[in-house]
Amino acid sequence: MRILTVSDKIEPVLYGPYLRERVGKIDLVLGCGDLPDYYLEYLIGLLDAPLFYVHGNHDPARDVEDAQRATAGQEFRVSDWGNDLHGRTVHYRGLLLAGLEGCRRYSPNAPFQYTEAEVAWQVINLLRRLYWNRLRYGRYLDILITHAPPRGIHDAEDLPHQGFASYLKLLRACRPTLMIHGHTHVYNRNNVTETDFGATRIINTYGYRVLELAPQWETGGWELVRSS
Ligand SMILES: [Zn+2]
Repeated sequence: MRILTVSDKIEPVLYGPYLRERVGKIDLVLGCGDLPDYYLEYLIGLLDAPLFYVHGNHDPARDVEDAQRATAGQEFRVSDWGNDLHGRTVHYRGLLLAGLEGCRRYSPNAPFQYTEAEVAWQVINLLRRLYWNRLRYGRYLDILITHAPPRGIHDAEDLPHQGFASYLKLLRACRPTLMIHGHTHVYNRNNVTETDFGATRIINTYGYRVLELAPQWETGGWELVRSS
């Protein structure tokens, strides 16, 4: 399973005619926020792969229909275009995915910004859904996608760039193979973009990454075999 993950920045090497040569065959695109729809549409159109995404703090607010779907939080049928994963989990081609959107609140009334207390509730609600995964598939989750990082990992001390401690609780409880986030801009090669936390590899996808996962037959889950 080859996965393209993107966030925060339109990559000229992807947004052009040589996308397929650059990334190879891609089974799935994961969007971690702060990217315009036209870019995501371009990627999934040319790669012929489905998209699962969460919104970032720079994305425009949801329209009414989207907002109703999001608050209802119910299971959804995987669509050819994008699938908003916020607060939801989905089983797609043997992979258990879930997502949480947004970043820490730093300006009133802006969309996709939350306090730590609000995110704590989002995590509790998501955990309820993930318990069902555990009953049904024998494990909670394979990949968590978020916009913001967890607190203390790939984050910063200024309020807009502080991560959420509640994400770490979810990782401890569910031990997914991967957590993919964006939001933290990467300025040079010295910036740490991959960190192991318990059983989970946390990856800042700022720009883009290509990940290769292989099935783990004993657990029914997945392992990361390559990231580039
Ligand atoms: Zn952001």
